[in-house]
Amino acid sequence: MRAQPPASHYVDGAYVEDEAGEAFESIYPATGEAIARLHMATPALFDRALAAAKRGQAEWAAKSGAERGRILRRAAEILREKNDAISEIETLDTGKAVQETLVADAASGADCIEYFGALAADIRGSHIEFPNGFAYTRREPLGICAGIGAWNYPIQIASWKSAPALACGNAMIFKPSEVTPLTALKLAEIYTEAGVPAGVFNVLQGGGALGAMLSSHPAIDKVSVTGSVGTGAKVMGGAAETTKHVTLELGGKSPILVFADADLDAAVSGAILGNFYSTGQICSNGTRVFVERSVRQAFVEKLAERAKAIRLGDPLDPETHLGPLVSKAQYDRVLSYMELGRSQGATLACGGKAAEVAGLPNGLFVEPTIFTDVDDTMRIAREEIFGPVMCVMDFDSEDEAIRRANATDFGLAAGIYTRDLSRAHRMAARVAAGTVWVNSYNLTPVEMPFGGVKRSGIGRENGREALEHYSQVKSVYLATGPEEAPY
Ligand code: NAD
Repeated sequence: MRAQPPASHYVDGAYVEDEAGEAFESIYPATGEAIARLHMATPALFDRALAAAKRGQAEWAAKSGAERGRILRRAAEILREKNDAISEIETLDTGKAVQETLVADAASGADCIEYFGALAADIRGSHIEFPNGFAYTRREPLGICAGIGAWNYPIQIASWKSAPALACGNAMIFKPSEVTPLTALKLAEIYTEAGVPAGVFNVLQGGGALGAMLSSHPAIDKVSVTGSVGTGAKVMGGAAETTKHVTLELGGKSPILVFADADLDAAVSGAILGNFYSTGQICSNGTRVFVERSVRQAFVEKLAERAKAIRLGDPLDPETHLGPLVSKAQYDRVLSYMELGRSQGATLACGGKAAEVAGLPNGLFVEPTIFTDVDDTMRIAREEIFGPVMCVMDFDSEDEAIRRANATDFGLAAGIYTRDLSRAHRMAARVAAGTVWVNSYNLTPVEMPFGGVKRSGIGRENGREALEHYSQVKSVYLATGPEEAPY
């Protein structure tokens, strides 16, 4: 098998097999070939991982922040050195084009680990003065954190969760998606090589049942999940039993607002990348593109022209723009939404069906698809499709655009294209979203907090804000005057 790891899990600083667990395979979606055969973790291995995380966390938290930071920065360096090999595994596991995985996956993970490595020495509390005393706060680790990943950005998600967790002195048990189980194991190897103590970062394979155990187990202090809204609600429900901290990075149906005064080519680029990058499998994609009526025709023409130039192909070919969808389930789901768009009366500007790619007859390819004449009530305009399907609508005024953009339960991200500075800020303030991009789309530098509002999530990843979600504040009050009692 092309990407078989030494064993399925990584616990207590080493690879571990657990053959009693149910077997499953990772499939390369461009060919249908099995690239690795793994086992899901059993409850016995789960207990071993918990014991290892408890020991590892005590040792890790006892180190100075500077020392933890040094080790994390070393891990970031090793991850960068191994970028090519890890990108190839990521491409095999996800089907995403290597043109992307080389620059956006492990590379973003390394940036994140380096960033939190740099902050680790500066995690601190505050000092508060009173007439007869003072208080200070200590920012302490939470303990054992669980990370649960989605399949679209496997190593990036593992890094975005583990880097702030480890910087704060926590241990983590990470469960990658069962669809893309491989690169989290590479990250675990790298942490060990960099000097992270055994048990601090563990990887267990499994599906929803393991995710539910991680969410509800009393020995776990926090759970952070990246996944769909439905899964997020289940995780939050499980965490409620033991009042765990939760971070939820969930789905979206984000709007892009294109005003008539915008640089139309830039807006077309934003809409194209914000719908088709990673074959449309990005949570923050701007899948509802609202275009001011006077430029709508020109916008759609440019869009369809550019979409025709997208090269579908072998994901391992550096010239390929788009690979297949990640799995047969996702392929069927996306094709069913394309059918739904047609049957509900939207107009196809391009795409709309499965795609044939020469030499890859079993590949799960679909055409980049643009629907126009979309009504806000259509399911393609309301539900997250998680594939390369863009809906274009038109509008006549700012108020209308904002009202329709916000008429959704999601609130992950939004884009605004305009040359009017005041309008850009006005719209950024009014749109209900965790992240707003102005004259750009989908850029997520690790220094910037990222997360959703409404049903798209709770908490933030990245930026200094993430440290607050992986630590807790203890207040210590100290009297400097006499204690007084009224009786
Ligand atoms: P999913 O919800 O099916 O699965 C996500 C993870 O949760 C997987 O590891 C899965 O095994 C696990 N899981 C499933 N049931 C569980 C349960 N009952 N308890 C605990 N864990 C459980 O999502 P997916 O299909 O892997 O990913 C696509 C979704 O993820 C989309 O909705 C997308 O928008 C979202 N996503 C969000 C972000 C973000 O940062 N906001 C990033 C990427 C993907």
